[in-house]
Amino acid sequence: AKRNDRGTAVLFAARHETIIRQESRIEQGLRQADLERELSLVFQPVYDLQSGEIYSVEALARWNSPELGLIAPDIFFPMAEKTGRVNGLTRVLFNRVLQDVATWPAHIGISFNLSARDLAVSEMVNWLITRIGQSHIEPRRITFEVTETAILRDFDAAREHIDLLRQCGARVALDDFGIGFSSLRYIHELEIDCLKIDRSFINPIVTNPRSQSIVKTVFDMCENFGIDCVVEGVETAEQCDVLRYFGARYAQGYLFARPAADFSFDPLADIGSQP
Ligand code: C2E
Ligand code: CA
Ligand code: CA
Ligand code: CA
Repeated sequence: AKRNDRGTAVLFAARHETIIRQESRIEQGLRQADLERELSLVFQPVYDLQSGEIYSVEALARWNSPELGLIAPDIFFPMAEKTGRVNGLTRVLFNRVLQDVATWPAHIGISFNLSARDLAVSEMVNWLITRIGQSHIEPRRITFEVTETAILRDFDAAREHIDLLRQCGARVALDDFGIGFSSLRYIHELEIDCLKIDRSFINPIVTNPRSQSIVKTVFDMCENFGIDCVVEGVETAEQCDVLRYFGARYAQGYLFARPAADFSFDPLADIGSQP
């Protein structure tokens, strides 16, 4: 048994080392990356389940490194935060978003994710506001998605910057709602336009009465506060039916569309056919 234990420990250590080595390769790659060339965006629509129309389109970043291949944003954004490069990434991506949106139908809005370090830094927030002003895009069409962890980092700065973004006419959404530590405090103390319920509550929705209760409660709360509520990660028709039954209005997920470089502005086709 002793040998087994040691074997496991060695195996674990080896794997741990591989992960660390990989991480530093990615970190290194990020430092040398030609962001303008290697970063791209894919888009995923959020639908209004009542009308079938697009509510907003979320922009999601992709990094295609010539040396390392395609790297997921869950990996490289936290790393860019750590190494202080995230503001640079955000600038490249936001410029591109403004270019793309300028070619879209005027009623379609864009949702753009901000990192903690974006929301915390005044120069960055001012830069975003300046860029919106220089573009010919109506600020209402732009929603900034911020996470609870980003707000938690520096609550007072986050509140001030959220207010600034909204004063310029943009909208702010609270992303991944429900998995942070003080979700209710954010609703209580921040002026926001939209809330996105984290997909960990949506995933078990068909069979789990507790997630049903939570989702229903959040819908009611949003209605009372006049906040739009998006459910994310809807993958099956069953989930969608249950969510509609509990009052869901805006939804995003693989069931409707996967993130893609090319997407259609068409409304959902079979919106009326649900029971
Ligand atoms: P997020 O903002 O919560 O984005 C939603 C993630 O869920 C996306 O992953 C999306 O592809 C995925 N998703 C959408 N529908 C479904 C579904 O039905 N099922 C499942 N299982 N997943 C679904 P992605 O594109 O890998 O992005 C991961 C995270 O990386 C994002 O989570 C966001 O936190 C971050 N991220 C992506 N793009 C950006 C960006 O431009 N800036 C910043 N700061 N963060 C970004
Ligand atoms: Ca998001
Ligand atoms: Ca989310
Ligand atoms: Ca997330």
